[in-house]
Amino acid sequence: MNLSERRKRFDRLNRGIKRCTKCPLHESRTHAVPGEGAVPTGVLFIGEAPGANEDQQGRPFVGASGRRLDRLLEEHGLARDSVYITSSVKCRPPKNRNPHVGELRICKENWLLPQIELLEPKLIVLLGQIAVKNLLETKDSLRSLRGDVITHDDQRYLVTYHPAAALRTASLAQPMDEDFTRIARLAAER
Ligand code: URA
Repeated sequence: MNLSERRKRFDRLNRGIKRCTKCPLHESRTHAVPGEGAVPTGVLFIGEAPGANEDQQGRPFVGASGRRLDRLLEEHGLARDSVYITSSVKCRPPKNRNPHVGELRICKENWLLPQIELLEPKLIVLLGQIAVKNLLETKDSLRSLRGDVITHDDQRYLVTYHPAAALRTASLAQPMDEDFTRIARLAAER
């Protein structure tokens, strides 16, 4: 598939996300948040779910966790528009509760997996436990998985903490810094 066809299909997919009514999360959302960044991309970041700011603006990671993510990207020489940033579900769960298993499954099958297929990332960075459970289908703890490159179904993943966790727990700053150093190194590999 050539680049312009890939981008056309990706835009069509993201327009579908914006209109999606496949799960109950659409009832309370203001905007669905497909994600943003480079298409295709070397590195795809997947978080949990849009929060209040993202729901208002229709853009991923624009609140406090987004500022933390932006800082990590900048400190490690990764331009935000050179990667792709999205979440496991595209609509904000009411009162920021965790997404339910069924919501995760519907969003993954209809939107996230097709996004991954078109983005063809060299590396997928999973931000936090929800993204890990959703994509790696494992019960292993975040702590035991983080920092290593994991190959699953022919795709390379790196697991790290969610930026919101780093905002709450200062001791996560150092491991996250190490993980982003590794991510930047992998992103630069040809
Ligand atoms: N947390 C996420 O996982 N995604 C966002 O877009 C914002 C916060």
